[in-house]
Amino acid sequence: MLKGIPVSPGVAISKALFLQNSTVNTEKKSITKEQIALEQKKLETALEKTEEQLTELHQQLLESVGEEQASIMSAHLVLLKDPAFIDEINNHIENDLIDVSSAVQMAADQFVQLFESLDDEYMRERATDIKDIANRLISNILGKNDKQTIDTKEAFILVSDDLTPSETVTLPREQVEAIIVAKGGKTSHAAILARSLGIPAIMGVGDQLANEVKTGDNLIIDGSTGKIYINPESSLIHKYQEKQQEEKAEKEELAKLKDKKATTRDGNEIELVANIKGPQDAEEVLQQGGEGIGLFRSEFLFMDRTSLPSEEEQYEAYSQVVKKLGNRPVIIRTLDIGGDKHLPYLDLPEEMNPFLGWRAIRISLSRPELFQVQLRALLRASAHGKVRIMFPMISHLEQIQEVKRILEETKKQLTAENIAFDPEIEIGVMIEIPSACLIADELAKEVDFFSIGTNDLVQYTLAVDRMNEKITDLYDHFHPAVLRLIKMVIDASHRHNIWTGMCGEMAGDLQATEILLGLGLDEFSVSPTLLPRVKHQLLQLSTEKAKQVAEKTLSLGTSKEVLEYITASH
Ligand code: PEP
Ligand code: MG
Repeated sequence: MLKGIPVSPGVAISKALFLQNSTVNTEKKSITKEQIALEQKKLETALEKTEEQLTELHQQLLESVGEEQASIMSAHLVLLKDPAFIDEINNHIENDLIDVSSAVQMAADQFVQLFESLDDEYMRERATDIKDIANRLISNILGKNDKQTIDTKEAFILVSDDLTPSETVTLPREQVEAIIVAKGGKTSHAAILARSLGIPAIMGVGDQLANEVKTGDNLIIDGSTGKIYINPESSLIHKYQEKQQEEKAEKEELAKLKDKKATTRDGNEIELVANIKGPQDAEEVLQQGGEGIGLFRSEFLFMDRTSLPSEEEQYEAYSQVVKKLGNRPVIIRTLDIGGDKHLPYLDLPEEMNPFLGWRAIRISLSRPELFQVQLRALLRASAHGKVRIMFPMISHLEQIQEVKRILEETKKQLTAENIAFDPEIEIGVMIEIPSACLIADELAKEVDFFSIGTNDLVQYTLAVDRMNEKITDLYDHFHPAVLRLIKMVIDASHRHNIWTGMCGEMAGDLQATEILLGLGLDEFSVSPTLLPRVKHQLLQLSTEKAKQVAEKTLSLGTSKEVLEYITASH
């Protein structure tokens, strides 16, 4: 048995097919000064050809599988056209006097190294995207077609050392039952694709994968646990076949709830919305029956690239989501960078305590020129639907007052320029720092809603770094201190006639649903794939009973007691 990171749930039982990597080898050749122009011309032609291919692939994907997969190719187009990347290639040709393919390889290696050195998992995994683009570009320069063909008509479990997005999107979907990759993690594009296609997948298995698994081996993989069984016994196959059947039945049951409202047994209508990273996720929210977006993490528009997105680019991305969602609310959070999320092109200093440092709203308020570009784009997008703006990491009352001042100034600018926006646009703060919970009454007077970010609230309340594996046992949203802070926030919001949602991971924890309902939470914002399960849970619950459960848990001293109590109360 091997184990990797479970990235897309589901059981698959099938034969392995090992896909060899299609990297293009380049041999470094020296050139003379007179040949520089020729090599640069070759680059130009190859860039054009690559752009055409990516555009075509984007279109094909849009028609065949949807926006989310297609957006990976648009991200590649952005990287391909990035002036920093192209300048670097030209620099190598001119200064190192080497041929264009080697120059591409060198520039790509530099960017790969830069991305791989970042702390943020998501950014690290973008290195694979750069390798993918460089391979495509070099193949076009050399006039090679390196696509590996799969010559079997049977279904199989795809096994690979590394899987680039290009390889993933060109896989024969009907035949691929599951994907196992030695490298990568939850946010690599292959994982994102597998999830959106509903293909079970395990990543980050490590080097043993190539040693242990060969083409033709019988495999069982469990995408929920990350377990891979190689040539298993028939009793185990039987067990997993049953599990597969159960999963299928559950999926069908949940699919029936798609158009139902998330109303509790005693008629309490809860707003059930989703968290997204960008326009590519919007379709999935609708497919899973989401009633809107509770958290659009705008910082993802700033990643995957080497310079800041312009007002126009941001406006395009925000309006795309807003238009897609029709009349449904879309809460967009302003840039939350710093902490574990870095931007290589924003000169963020190394800090002793990045989570307590220059992060999120603190950066926005100290760089108002960047902040206003985002606010302008958000306000402009609000002309197309129901946009709400949310501000991350508010710890001081003055911060939201300053934010409102800048927002008003931005509205005035737009009015003077005759640009349309929603003058009644609602604003909210994320409650993710204990100080914000403790001054929730004061904050509530300033805004239209709260959204509790438990991912950070837990780390700040318990002083437990959310990224540190050594102390994950201590990171716990059932800690009574966290529950009591949540209650404080919800009560304060209701005293001031505003509502409270939750967009941290706790909102999608089915064990927590009853407590949160009982504490009076008005909105649950969860990852799109969790929407049907949370809805199913809410439909079973009664608010009155949930209130009693919540009340009782507030009197307990440890999360163990809380969990024992909620398990026993069912
Ligand atoms: C949170 O802190 O709970 C949250 C939703 O924000 P993020 O995970 O993006 O920090
Ligand atoms: Mg947060």
